[in-house]
Amino acid sequence: MSNDYKSVLVVGAGPVGLVATASLISAGIPVKLIEATTDLAQDLRASTFHPPTLDFLDKLGIAEQLVEQGLICKHWQFRDRNTGIVASFDLSLLKGETKFPFRLQCEQWKLTKALRTYIEGHPDGELITRTSAEEVGQNDDGVWVKTIDKDGCKNQYDGRFLIGSDGARSIVRKSINAKFEGMTIPEIFLVLSTNFQYEKAIPDLANIAYISDPDEWLVLLKTLSLWRVLLPTNPEHSEDFIMDPENVQKRLQAVIPSANPYEVVHKTAYKVHERVSDKYIEGRIFLAGDAAHVNNPLGGMGMNGGIHDAINLVEKLSAVWHGSPLETMGRYERQRRKVAIETVQAQALRNRAILNASDPTQRLAYYDELKETVADENKHKDYVMRSSMITSLRELEKVN
Ligand SMILES: Cc1cc2nc3c(=O)[nH]c(=O)nc-3n(C[C@H](O)[C@H](O)[C@H](O)COP(=O)(O)OP(=O)(O)OC[C@H]3O[C@@H](n4cnc5c(N)ncnc54)[C@H](O)[C@@H]3O)c2cc1C
Repeated sequence: MSNDYKSVLVVGAGPVGLVATASLISAGIPVKLIEATTDLAQDLRASTFHPPTLDFLDKLGIAEQLVEQGLICKHWQFRDRNTGIVASFDLSLLKGETKFPFRLQCEQWKLTKALRTYIEGHPDGELITRTSAEEVGQNDDGVWVKTIDKDGCKNQYDGRFLIGSDGARSIVRKSINAKFEGMTIPEIFLVLSTNFQYEKAIPDLANIAYISDPDEWLVLLKTLSLWRVLLPTNPEHSEDFIMDPENVQKRLQAVIPSANPYEVVHKTAYKVHERVSDKYIEGRIFLAGDAAHVNNPLGGMGMNGGIHDAINLVEKLSAVWHGSPLETMGRYERQRRKVAIETVQAQALRNRAILNASDPTQRLAYYDELKETVADENKHKDYVMRSSMITSLRELEKVN
């Protein structure tokens, strides 16, 4: 039993909880980070790092090692499945706005691994794995988390503040009775990773391509070792049917026919939700990342937005730790909830609308707008500032 108010408790060691923990301990604030798994998630999840996220990670000394382990992408495309490139976006227009004027394609687990090493090597960081939070609560002076570990042992941890970064099914969010408002996207998202070389089959293909089609849109994303293919799937099909190797082959063969069967290195199918918590704060308890908001992955903004939450939250919480009034935390919710709704969710939904537009007139209108945007340098730069999430970070400074 640990019984003190000398640390911040963080529940959930995904990218968001790890960034929050690393930022707090680097500001001299001790943290106990409670995580249900033993080894942290190793599977392929988010793979895009936007420039401002790298700028933040650079301050923790983590960015350069990620860049070394990832693929630098200076361009990305919207394409039509039949006619090819609609618009190609140039991230080198961001030079002078960020140290990293590109999108980095790098698996999420490489970030969590680097952060784990950082935290475990720091005297103020304590990572408690194999331990699930079951219930959280607070009083006027502090917070507590009741836990159970994988051997069935129950425990309680106390702290001064608590960050719930325990993902989309957050127990912390449920404990503060927050509503997770929004909707579930009808189609299931199927992500297949293969070593097939799409760049050879489609010579003008960028490493990140959103490919529009009224019948079956798709996304092609390259990482250092593999291509990832994201396809929408009929929700009436069972998971067994969707994941059946023969059906997976058919889906890939329909994208680009190949004489040899595709080697599928990894596959996941998941339901996608668009939801934002109605509150991010209850007294001394704060939500961040997927615990606070989830959205579709089109634009790669979920993990990035969550990391931006963590940075914003820690900046304010550090001031409160050193004596600012607790009420000043309210600005965290006002700023980051606004970004989740007005930027991340709005942009992700718009990207999906462009990809699956079935009305030909609407589709051409989207294409014309994208072409017009890239043809004008100011509009082009404005677009990449927004899609890279730089604008949302600058605009939130105006939110009091
Ligand atoms: C299968 C899958 C595939 C995805 N693919 C993509 C993709 O292709 N592109 C994309 O942009 N995004 C993708 N995402 C979303 C992206 O991974 C998330 O936006 C990102 O991980 C959010 O980070 P987070 O730290 O907020 O939450 P998470 O990464 O979910 O981390 C939450 C952590 O909390 C822990 N935890 C949960 N409950 C408890 C508890 N009660 N006690 C203690 N620990 C707990 C979990 O074990 C986990 O480690 C995917 C997500 C999933 C689940």
